[in-house]
Amino acid sequence: MTALPSTLQRGACPALSAPMMTGDGLLARISLIEAISPGQLAEICRLSLKHGNGMVDISARGNLQVRGLSEISAPRLDADVRGMDLPLREGLAVEVPPLAGMDDSEIADPRPLVEAIRDAARGITGLAPKMAVVVDGGGLLRLSDLLADIRLVAVGKHDWKLLLGGAEQSARIFNVLRETLVVDTVMDLLKRLASLGNKARGRDLTSGLAVNDTAPHTPTSSSGLSRGSAGVATVDPSQMLGTSPSMTTRNAAASPFELLTLSDGLHAVGIGPAFGQAKAEHLIALCDEAARLGIQSLKPAFDHSLLFFGTGVACRALRDFANDNGFIASATDPRSHIAACSGSPACNSATIATHEIAAAAAVECADILDGSFKLHVTGCPKGCAHPQPAALALCGTADSVSLIAQGKAADQPFAFSSFADTNATLRRLADLVGSERRPGENSAACLARIGSDRLAAAATGRP
Ligand code: SF4
Repeated sequence: MTALPSTLQRGACPALSAPMMTGDGLLARISLIEAISPGQLAEICRLSLKHGNGMVDISARGNLQVRGLSEISAPRLDADVRGMDLPLREGLAVEVPPLAGMDDSEIADPRPLVEAIRDAARGITGLAPKMAVVVDGGGLLRLSDLLADIRLVAVGKHDWKLLLGGAEQSARIFNVLRETLVVDTVMDLLKRLASLGNKARGRDLTSGLAVNDTAPHTPTSSSGLSRGSAGVATVDPSQMLGTSPSMTTRNAAASPFELLTLSDGLHAVGIGPAFGQAKAEHLIALCDEAARLGIQSLKPAFDHSLLFFGTGVACRALRDFANDNGFIASATDPRSHIAACSGSPACNSATIATHEIAAAAAVECADILDGSFKLHVTGCPKGCAHPQPAALALCGTADSVSLIAQGKAADQPFAFSSFADTNATLRRLADLVGSERRPGENSAACLARIGSDRLAAAATGRP
């Protein structure tokens, strides 16, 4: 076997033409910018059987991933997928909520801005491979929990809050801009990032900026970047015409695993494989059923989901089919509240079989998985499945499973559990939350209130 080019090393972005080596072979990512048909997804699944090991991921950001490729089969998959004439994303990742333009509750349609940003960014080279711009017009499904280097959030019909780094809540506010100034400002920021080298990320521009919150603020910066540069006009959110307080305090994203009513009588239903990974045959069966029901389009979306678009009747029928066939098709499914990476044996870095532990946790901890937090189950401290802090995380170590509260996978654990005792440990933690929960309190708040010391005592079975 020849040495892998640098694009195939761990940490690189596993794009279609530059797959990444994992525990079960090369992994190629297929990123789409528009909906495709159920027949096209079924064809991608058939290609995964032909060229890979027949396992298909839907990533947390809504990308398709084909696993188990070889150095010979990966370029063949690349050619076959390109031959399908799919709406593949090329260049900078500029992401919108999956219902953009179809959702009456949207504050603003983000798609024109997205196209303009994609076009303008074509000439910018040297950006970090995973650089991501999110343009979120609000609405039923938000991208608030996805990390973004640059994030634009609609706060009025023609006004956008620009944030840098992190998820929406933890990002830093750069400015609030009139729409006419957004593209130039984003280009300024991207060029600045490119000039800092291909490891620079949005957070590197945040020095001195305030953390995002809903309170009005006066833009002041000590970041070295002038927020008034390039003729950028600032708008104090409290002074914006046509901006109601509710626009600046919209709730974070709802689950995609719902039946959603869209404009023009259209419906969408979110369906996903457990922990983001499915056998190609199972996805083909789901796509065949969707086509049989007259559903003509679908989009892979965040939270490892597939959004199918059709009539209410067709979407309900597909949801029933998905339920009967082991897919997640409801926001109350405890599995939808667990973020688990591929783990062992699919990933070389993993020390635990994350999907096994997550499946057991969905049973052992179902009563505390109320949607207020994601239980993070990770094969190593890199934490691919949930880079943000979690109320509770389980992380594989060389000889045990570490437990982390209110932190990232790499943060200080409050306790350790042997592999064999993991389920029982989770049960003890769930029992503690169940007995301590106050009326009206959700699990995330209860876990935070209980605190690490008492969680550690419960995890180890101490009285
Ligand atoms: S977090 Fe999981 S998928 Fe990512 S490198 Fe670690 S074990 Fe592998």
